[in-house]
Amino acid sequence: MLDFTPAGGRPHPCGEEVLYDFEVDRVAEEILRRGVKRVLLQFPEGLRGRALSIVKRLSERVDAEFLVSGDPCYGACDLPLWQGRSLGVDLIVHYGHSPMMEETNPPVLYVEARAEMDVEEVVRRAVPLLGGAKVVGLASTVQHLSQLRRAERILSEEGKEVRVGGRSGRVTYPGQVLGCDYSSPLSVAGEVEVFLFIGGGSFHPLGLSLATEKDVVTADPYTGKVGRIGEKDRMRVAKRRWATISAARQAERFGIIMGLKAGQRRPTAVRALKGKLEEEGKEVLLLCMEEVNFENLANFTEIEAFIETACPRIAIDGIEGLRQPLLTGEEALVMLGELDWGEVWRATFGGIRWTWE
Ligand code: SF4
Repeated sequence: MLDFTPAGGRPHPCGEEVLYDFEVDRVAEEILRRGVKRVLLQFPEGLRGRALSIVKRLSERVDAEFLVSGDPCYGACDLPLWQGRSLGVDLIVHYGHSPMMEETNPPVLYVEARAEMDVEEVVRRAVPLLGGAKVVGLASTVQHLSQLRRAERILSEEGKEVRVGGRSGRVTYPGQVLGCDYSSPLSVAGEVEVFLFIGGGSFHPLGLSLATEKDVVTADPYTGKVGRIGEKDRMRVAKRRWATISAARQAERFGIIMGLKAGQRRPTAVRALKGKLEEEGKEVLLLCMEEVNFENLANFTEIEAFIETACPRIAIDGIEGLRQPLLTGEEALVMLGELDWGEVWRATFGGIRWTWE
């Protein structure tokens, strides 16, 4: 049963609050079915405004203790597993993302929190930005996937052929993207002239454009705004990243960062990089941390360049104020001459990055 609830704090352009499906009945049934006594709930920033209401509604249905994680949550890679174990919880309920890790301790119930938003108006507004393109690829985050069919119908009415990539890599559904995985749209990129992305902000569509090397028209149902990410935007990022790789080439002392978040650990990749750098006569310090940020890196003053293997977007989007260059694992391979620069985005975002672990 659909159970749409305002998320709190994210206004729609027409002034209404956005409704998300928090699936309170399904969560309550699952808690009862499993005989769970203590539950840890985890919300990303944008959904925290409803945490109290969700706990109240669950408490009316089941007799269990509910704890809410207040630490940052960036994705389904970021589950509070050790926190759950130390708190003795029987179940984690993770809101806002599709399933990524299935076999966990404690077990995780994913609630995708799909948005109930009609995208028709914003998609129609985006159509002129598609230009003369005949074949259009469609992509979205999990929140708006149920609107892809509607968008497809609108594009067909406008005389476009539509392509939606299948399920692949770390994503659960056809057409879905993550900030680190564009393998679904990549599978159809060869047939597509331009992509239409439905969702909020520029984080995902920029990654989509980098990964596929195609222009991306954006239709943001939260703001009603449309735009186009093109060659100039890709070049701006590429120049910045190439300059960072060039700066890292001068370094003698490297810090390789292994992420400690459950879905960001790549110990084999870390060790492989360490071996390759040492073969080149570089000194290497292995660092492990949950939060890869300025505060945690700034005082490692002996280190001349960092390589992070946790989430590629941390390095690509950059850490403000950090003095040393910060590379992704794939960019480090480019620096070492093990990967062609022309393949770096596909290696980073194509879902294959997890295979060299
Ligand atoms: S690794 Fe980064 S981009 Fe990928 S799901 Fe996690 S937070 Fe998002």
